[in-house]
Order: sequence, then structure tokens, then C-alpha cells
Amino acid sequence: MPDKYGEGNAIVVGGGPAGLTAAVALAAGGIPTVLAGKGPGKADNRTTALLAGSVTALETLGVWELCEAQAAPLRTMRLVDDTGRLWRAPEVKFEAHEIDLDAFGYNIENRHLVAALEERARALPALRLIEDEVLEVAPGEDAVAVTLKSGETLRAPLVVGADGRRSLCRVAAGIALDERRYRQTALTLCLRHSRPHRDASTEFHTPSGPFTLVPLPGDRSSLVWVLDPADADELAALDDGELSDEIERASHSILGKISVEPGRGLFPLSIATARRFGAGRIALVGEAAHVVPPIGAQGLNLGLRDAAAICELAVEAQRRGHDIGGDDVMTRYERMRRADVGSRTLAIDLFNRTLLTDFLPVQSARGFGLYLLDRIGPLRRAVMREGVAPRLAQPKLMRGEAL
Ligand SMILES: Cc1cc2nc3c(=O)[nH]c(=O)nc-3n(C[C@H](O)[C@H](O)[C@H](O)COP(=O)(O)OP(=O)(O)OC[C@H]3O[C@@H](n4cnc5c(N)ncnc54)[C@H](O)[C@@H]3O)c2cc1C
Repeated sequence: MPDKYGEGNAIVVGGGPAGLTAAVALAAGGIPTVLAGKGPGKADNRTTALLAGSVTALETLGVWELCEAQAAPLRTMRLVDDTGRLWRAPEVKFEAHEIDLDAFGYNIENRHLVAALEERARALPALRLIEDEVLEVAPGEDAVAVTLKSGETLRAPLVVGADGRRSLCRVAAGIALDERRYRQTALTLCLRHSRPHRDASTEFHTPSGPFTLVPLPGDRSSLVWVLDPADADELAALDDGELSDEIERASHSILGKISVEPGRGLFPLSIATARRFGAGRIALVGEAAHVVPPIGAQGLNLGLRDAAAICELAVEAQRRGHDIGGDDVMTRYERMRRADVGSRTLAIDLFNRTLLTDFLPVQSARGFGLYLLDRIGPLRRAVMREGVAPRLAQPKLMRGEAL
């Protein structure tokens, strides 16, 4: 354990999936770490489609074996234009074997993923877990002071801010956020169906946003239905039978009879990017750094790449006897993450806007883009490879290399 700081050389604030991954990676890489997080305010009934690189990182960290049984492979991804508009795109179907993968990734309920991360975190002697709220984060020249609700103050040369979209760490680091809200809300739930999903996820593009069914183990799937906020409220207030019928109608019965499971979530959608990803010894990861709407399963996959990147830099700095939270690490972190986050945020925003617009030339451009994707093999494969594992931003963990 560290001499200088007593508790840990790194503090992670926030115990969501991005924070837990960062804490496990730091501790596994030999950096004594404290994770301070308050429990989730309410049950998270969402699922995460973890793309291949994220699964490899979780395997490398010894987490995947703890939750693999609860995950379903994604072998086929279908995009269906359900806008009913004049210019409709052809259906596009991507198969993982086209790019020599067994699966694009795996879909798992967030509660199972977080439970596996917590189990792994508890097994690491270099990691101390504190379930408490962080009230104050104060950057200093050599260390950041983190004060908990219990009154305890921790100090470390590196803080990883994984405290979600209303991040206290981001404010403490003096980092501004560019944010825009959409007039869209995502209704999320899990459901059972009478026909098998055959490991295929289907994204229907509707005029209010995507309606996406993603496989879970057995004859179960998760649904993310992006709607006008008033329509989302109305649907969420229906009883189970009525809501199941609405979902069956909207899915054109591709999965047969639908029965919704208990638990529904409503998520108002926005898009946001922090102007910097690190300053004053505080590195932001996950939704503290960027928020994207649920299109193409990118949000947490980006967050896990953030966690892998900052941990890789910190472990490397510690091995060389350098400052693990200094300006050099912050600058390199920014460089490693900006292009990946920026390009994906832009693409998702543009795509979402083409769904919402009634402007015919924009609709036809989206249709034409999808037509090209459907017809041109090398383009299809390039898009699939980039979607699953970005060329520019593969931290070591995503390549299966331990830190
Ligand atoms: C409908 C929907 C579907 C999605 N589907 C996918 C998908 O398929 N694939 C994908 O990759 N991404 C998906 N995402 C995105 C993904 O859910 C998020 O990226 C992810 O949950 C963010 O994780 P996080 O750890 O950064 O933040 P959070 O999960 O918000 O965790 C932050 C944690 O910090 C804690 N905290 C906050 N403030 C403090 C404080 N002061 N003190 C202590 N603790 C604090 C909170 O309690 C919380 O536990 C989806 C998002 C939505 C809305």
C-alpha cells in the first residue's frame, strides 16, 4: 500500500459501470485505489450491448467469467426504416461472420454487469470500496482532496471522475460541458417473446427515434423505444397487457407474442461532451465526460475505453516513477480519447437528427447512405469493424493485454 497518501494513490468517484471498471483496472495494474460511490438512486433496468473490445477488456480484468452466463451474443444486427416516409432506406443486415467474428458483442442487463464488477472489485486487495457520497472534490498542486459525507477526507495524486452526467468532479476540475437536450425520451424494459430472436438485434427507425430490440438469454430481449416525451409517458402508464400489445404492433410481430417484464425506465435524452477530459489531476470517464443517445450501442462502450485508457496511462507512469495524475498524463489522456468520442458523438447526433427531420433531402441522404451500406461489401465491412473496434482508440485492455 502507498506510503505517501495512506489510503490509495488513486481515487475513483462513482460506482457505476465506468467507475467500477476503472477501479478494477487501476488496482489490478498495481495502483492502490479507493472507490467512493453512493449506491444507484433507483434500480437500473437497462441492458448494455457490450461490443467485442469491451468484452475482451472485461475478460482481461477477470470480470467477464463472472457474468458471461447472463449475456446473449449479438450475431446479426438489422436496421429497418420504419419512418413510413417517401424516401425509405432498404433494410440493412450486418452479420458478425462477415468480419470474421463469432459475435459483434454481448447484451447483458446492467444489474448483472455491475454485480460482476463489484464481485471482482471486492476480491482485489489493492482496492478499498467505500459506499458513501462525495461532497467535495478540491484539486491541489500535488494531490486532490475528496471529502465524503461521513466526514472522512481522502487525498491522492489522481482522481478518476466517474460520477455520471451531473459530475461533481467535472465541476471541481473547472471543465465546461457542451450539452443539448433532445425532445425525446427512451422507454426501457425487458420482455419475453413467443418466437426466438436468433441472436439478432433489430433497430426500427421511426419518425420519433429508434425502436430497438436486443437479445437476452432465452426467449427474452430488451427494448429501448425512443419517443416523443408525452408519448413515452403515456405508454409507460399503460398496464402490462396493453403495453405488450403496443410493443408487438410496433415490432411488426417479428418476435411473436410479447409479455413485458416488471420494471420500466424513462430516460430523457441529451447529448453532451466535456470541453476537456482531464484537468487538475482529475480525469473524467463515462457519462461524466460524454453522454450520447442510445443509438448503435456506443455510450458505455466509449466509457469503458475511457477507463481503460486512463488506467493504462496511470499504470505506465507509476512503473516509470512518474506522477500518475500530472499534466503529462492528462494531456496524453485527452489525446487518446478526443477523436474516438468526438467522431462517434457527431455521427450519432447526425443520424438521430435525420430521423427527426421532415426535410426531404436529408431523409433521402440517410436512405442513400444506408443503400450504399447495404450494397457495397468493403464499405459494410469497414463500418462494421469501426463500430465494433475503432482503429484509432484501442487501449491495451481492449486488445486483451493486461496492464
Ligand atoms: C436507454 C439507454 C440505453 C443504453 N444502452 C446502451 C448500450 O446498449 N450500450 C452502451 O454502450 N451504452 C448504452 N447506454 C449508455 C450507458 O447506459 C451509460 O453510458 C452508462 O450507464 C454510464 O455509466 P457511468 O458509470 O459513466 O455513469 P452512471 O451509471 O451514471 O454512474 C455514476 C455513478 O456515480 C455515482 N455518483 C454520482 N455522484 C456521486 C457523488 N457525488 N458521490 C458518490 N457517487 C456519486 C452515482 O450514484 C452512480 O452510481 C444506454 C443509455 C440509455 C439512456
